[in-house]
Amino acid sequence: MDEATARRDLIRICHLMYERSYVVSSDGNVSVRLDDGRILATPTMTCKGRMTEELIAVTDIDGRALNDQRASSELAMHLLIYEERPDVMAVCHAHPPHGTAFAVAGLAIDQPILSEVILTLGCVPLAAYGTPSTDELTEAMRPLVKHHNALLMANHGAVAYGSDLWQAFDRLETLEHTARIAILARILGGSKNLPADAIEKLINVREAAGYLGENARCQACGYLHETQLSCPTGDRPAPTSYSSSSSRNGSGKISLTREELVELLAQALTQGRPGNVW
Ligand SMILES: [Zn+2]
Repeated sequence: MDEATARRDLIRICHLMYERSYVVSSDGNVSVRLDDGRILATPTMTCKGRMTEELIAVTDIDGRALNDQRASSELAMHLLIYEERPDVMAVCHAHPPHGTAFAVAGLAIDQPILSEVILTLGCVPLAAYGTPSTDELTEAMRPLVKHHNALLMANHGAVAYGSDLWQAFDRLETLEHTARIAILARILGGSKNLPADAIEKLINVREAAGYLGENARCQACGYLHETQLSCPTGDRPAPTSYSSSSSRNGSGKISLTREELVELLAQALTQGRPGNVW
């Protein structure tokens, strides 16, 4: 993508994020990687609704400034994604209210309730909390980035990324829309999950069509828990909602974390009826 188009699209997306209430005040940040490796990014402490092209910060791939604008302090999150995903050329980070509500409630958006979301976005895991702009946050995200196209960050917000700015923004929008539908469905008595065979067909379709690759078949992905598909990735991260801290203590008792207990109850409930426990 040429730089003039990237600059124009970046400003348009900043304005859309603000108009759609995905950010307020100086929240959020957007970046795009140019073909020559330079990064165009939103600057620190600037309202996205008032972004103009003159405010765009330019950095190298390590975040070093190449013009007189200071890039967002959250640029490290973007640089991590570019490092882990050579296919990604743009990143949108925001605090959309419904998606962020999931992140605040400690929930991933990983229930298979909408066929098109399975086709185009995949499940959205929840990265553990890390202080914004520090290594804590990027290290919590790192194992998930390879396998997912959008993440929630606990007690913080959401990030989505793609091969260009519009794909990154569309994924952010799909994340927010899915979260909103899930919350509304819960008010109506709870959503019904797609059955395992339907999920498997959708995953096969998305791979055949090139919407998402096999790298998205991660065991952290809630969709796969009941399908016959296995994850081909060797370095799969541990599921975020099911920690490995449970242990047998030698007395025949098993101790579970709260998350593990919730997961077990969720599985029991799902087996009882085709719904979910969001
Ligand atoms: Zn943020």
